[in-house]
Amino acid sequence: MHFCPHTDCDYRGWLGLNNLRANGHPSGGPWRQFHCTSCQGYFLETHGTLFHGKQASVERIVRVLACLAEGLGIRATARVFEVDANTVLHWLIEAAEQLRAFSAYVLCDLHLEQLQLDELYAVLRDCRAGESGEDEAIERLECSPSWVWTAMAPDSKLLLLIAGGTRTLAMAQRVVHRVVQMLAPDCVPLFLTDGLKDYGTALLTHFGSWMQPERRQDKGPLPKPRWMPLPALLYAQVVKSYRRRRIVGVTYRVVFGTLERVQQVLSACGRKINTAFVERLNLDIRQRVAAVGRRVNTLGQGEDGLQHQLVVFHAYHNFVLPHASLRQPLPVPEATNGTGSAKQWRPCTPAMAAGLTDHVWSLQEVLLFRVPPWPQPQTI
Ligand SMILES: [Zn+2]
Repeated sequence: MHFCPHTDCDYRGWLGLNNLRANGHPSGGPWRQFHCTSCQGYFLETHGTLFHGKQASVERIVRVLACLAEGLGIRATARVFEVDANTVLHWLIEAAEQLRAFSAYVLCDLHLEQLQLDELYAVLRDCRAGESGEDEAIERLECSPSWVWTAMAPDSKLLLLIAGGTRTLAMAQRVVHRVVQMLAPDCVPLFLTDGLKDYGTALLTHFGSWMQPERRQDKGPLPKPRWMPLPALLYAQVVKSYRRRRIVGVTYRVVFGTLERVQQVLSACGRKINTAFVERLNLDIRQRVAAVGRRVNTLGQGEDGLQHQLVVFHAYHNFVLPHASLRQPLPVPEATNGTGSAKQWRPCTPAMAAGLTDHVWSLQEVLLFRVPPWPQPQTI
C-alpha cells in the first residue's frame, strides 16, 4: 500500500507498480525506509502520516487518539497521559485531517439499497447563567445550538457521513450532495428520514430532471417543462410515535415513489421499517464524541473541535469498532489460548459488512495508512 511521494517521479502517487524496495530501518528507528527504483529517492513508511517526525512514541499517540475516539474530552485525555492539552489538540487535528482523507478514499462508488438520514441535537457550549454585559452577548451568540447530521446504510451500519451544522435547508443540501458523491453513478437508494421537510427539497434537487408535461388541449403552446423527481427515486419519511419517551409505533409517509415499491425494498432487506439502529447510533455519538450532548468544558469546544472529533468517530465506527449485531458465526469454533470457552463469532465492522474491507482495522493501522493522492485501480 505504498507509493513514491517525490514530485518529480513518474511513479508518484501510484500503487502496485513494483518500483519500491524496502531498505531496512535507518539508524535503528522504528520505521522502514523505502527506495524508489524509478527516481532513486528514499522515503519513510510514515511519510504523510501524523507519526512522521514526531518525538512521542507511536503507542502513546495512538492511545491518546483512542481515548478521544472513545469519548474522553481533550483536557481529561491530557491529564491521563500527562501531555499538554494543546499537544492533544494538535494530534486530534492532524489525525482528523488524515482520517477524513482515508474515509473519502475508501467510501466511494457505493451500491446501497437504502439510506437513513438523521440529525441529532448537540449542545456545543454550556451557558453560564448570571453573566452580563458584552461577555454575555458574545457567549449567547456562540451558544447557538448545533446539530449533528448523519447518513447511514441500515443493513451494514456503514456511516457515510457525519457532520455538524445548523438545521437548515442549506445544510440538508450539503449533506445530500456529499452523500450523492459517495454513491455509484447508477445508484439511487431508498431514502428514509425524519419529518424535516428540507430533505425532500434537497433530494429533489439531486435526483430530479426536467420533464415535459403532456399537452392538455389539442392546440396552443406546449406547457413549460417542470423539474420532477427521477422515476427511480424512493423517499419516505419515518414518523415515530412516542409514549413516555419510548417509541411505540412507526409509520411511513411516502414523499417520492409509491408505498408498494418502498415496502418492496424494505422487505427485500429483510426488515420492516425500524429506527432502533438510529437510536443506537445517537447513543454511540453521545458516548463517543465528547463535545456532543454534555456540558463541555474542554479545549476545542465549539464547531471546529466538534468537526474534528466527528471525523475521528466516523473512521472509528466504520473500520475499528466491531458491531455486535453484525458478527458472523464461525463455521468451526476456535479454541482460545486460555481456559475460556471457544470463540464462536467472527467480529465484523460496518466497513466489512458493506464489502469495503476484509478485516477489523486497528486504530494504529488506520492512522498509518498512507492515502494515495488520487483513486487507484485496486481497493483496500
Ligand atoms: Zn519515485
